[in-house]
Amino acid sequence: MWRWSAAGLGPTSGALSGSEGVDQLGRAIEKVKVDLAAKTARLQASGLIAEAGILDAQALMLDDPALLDGASELITQGRPADEAVAATLAPFAQMLRASPDPVFQARAVDVEDVVEQLRHAMQGVTGTPPPPRQPSILVARDLAPSQTAGLDRALVLGFATEQGSATAHTAILARALGLPAVVGIAGLVDAVEDGQAVLLDGDEGTLMIDPPADAVATVPSAAPPAADAEPAVTRDGRRVEIGCNAAGVEDARRAAAAGADGIGLLRSEFLFLGSDRLPSEDEQVAVLEEVATAMGERPVILRTLDVGADKPLPSLPQPPEANPALGVRGLRLQLLRRPDLLLDQMRAALRVSARHPLRLMFPMVSTVDEVRQVKALLAQARLDVNPNAADGTGMPVGIMIEVPAAAVGADALAAEVDFFSLGTNDLTQYLFAADRTNPELAPLADSLHPALLRMIDQVVKAAHRRHRWVGLCGEMASDLWAVPLLVGLGIDELSVHPPAVARIKALVRSLDAAECARVARAALKLDGGAAVRRLLERRRLRPR
Ligand code: PEP
Ligand code: MG
Repeated sequence: MWRWSAAGLGPTSGALSGSEGVDQLGRAIEKVKVDLAAKTARLQASGLIAEAGILDAQALMLDDPALLDGASELITQGRPADEAVAATLAPFAQMLRASPDPVFQARAVDVEDVVEQLRHAMQGVTGTPPPPRQPSILVARDLAPSQTAGLDRALVLGFATEQGSATAHTAILARALGLPAVVGIAGLVDAVEDGQAVLLDGDEGTLMIDPPADAVATVPSAAPPAADAEPAVTRDGRRVEIGCNAAGVEDARRAAAAGADGIGLLRSEFLFLGSDRLPSEDEQVAVLEEVATAMGERPVILRTLDVGADKPLPSLPQPPEANPALGVRGLRLQLLRRPDLLLDQMRAALRVSARHPLRLMFPMVSTVDEVRQVKALLAQARLDVNPNAADGTGMPVGIMIEVPAAAVGADALAAEVDFFSLGTNDLTQYLFAADRTNPELAPLADSLHPALLRMIDQVVKAAHRRHRWVGLCGEMASDLWAVPLLVGLGIDELSVHPPAVARIKALVRSLDAAECARVARAALKLDGGAAVRRLLERRRLRPR
């Protein structure tokens, strides 16, 4: 592995002022728009629709007249064009950075990325790190989302940066592109020489400089297969379904091509993004048909709109809240304010379920009462779609278990629905009272912590007592440390990103479910995530 640095992208020179500067800015804006459109098209062609939206949002910033007008005024007053752009956008970036919400803080990087792209366009240089001579790992202080999207994946095997958080767009893009990446390593650039050997482990979040031969020997020599459509069955014969999380039609095609057993989570909020109005019932039917057709006989779990908190929806603006993560988000928003939206989604789902194996799932459920309200609405939607339909038949209905009250109350909830899917991203944040978007708190919200494992155990038992199926669609499903424990706790399905399907299936096949159950029982009695990791190491269940 080789390191080359993204440093030296160069300071700006050649920025003009006066009317020439205004022209230069106009040309730079047009150039960056063309570059962004090309990168967006590349992401879209790879099926990364939601990720392409990150760059689309940057293109929108370039179209904002406030940028051109504000910067032009400064340029006419004699400021060089690059400085004028930075000065115009700085207050916006500062406002985002000062937000108490780390998601908005991370978005400041996107604004600064636009400034940098314009600066590079004025200089006539590319903002993408110069390509290495051979396949390498990129080490950089920081990488902007547009730089990440522009990396040549044939030559860049992965990257590590000093700055950034797991929820910043750069990290989200890396995950979606299937690029191993570790962000937030302090002092990294000074610690690594150009060309020095490094071992990057995106799963573990580690980068080893000058790794010893025995560490290198543990790295699989062959890349795992990109697709695997065979069932994942443990050595002692237990089937675990491996589904995919999807945000749209292209994701569903990638999931099908990767050999996923179904779509374990279709995040419907992404079907609503990218438009300034909410889609009609018919429009939703059309998209769902495409997703379901891409998956053929394999089931698709449609999650109803889960907006609010870290997922605002421009076409559904809501008043600000003091604690958005604990606020009117997910199902609460529809039940309290917009049951009409829920009814639209339900009718669309029911219509598609007549032709495809579609299941419906509700996010952010806390109480049985909410489920009963939802079921009453569903009964109404069934009558709207087909006045002769018998209630309680057809499309299976489930809920996400992502609020501790739902996990603890899983017994009562299991009586009301057909299946559960554990949303461990939120369940972990609410269980540990640790904001999932705050990198400083990431060690606290450890998904191997016995407190979370006990909660999962309780949910699986409650579901199985009533012969209900229980999946898991949080990031934990593709955590190689966690999978043996989840198999041991009896999870029926894991829903992962398409690039992880083959690897997780291979891991499940290497496991003995009875042995995993013994290890999981022992893990439940331990006092922390570190002790669980040591247990997995002793029992030879450490990922390799
Ligand atoms: C979760 O909370 O684990 C989950 C899968 O939902 P989201 O990440 O969309 O909140
Ligand atoms: Mg969630």
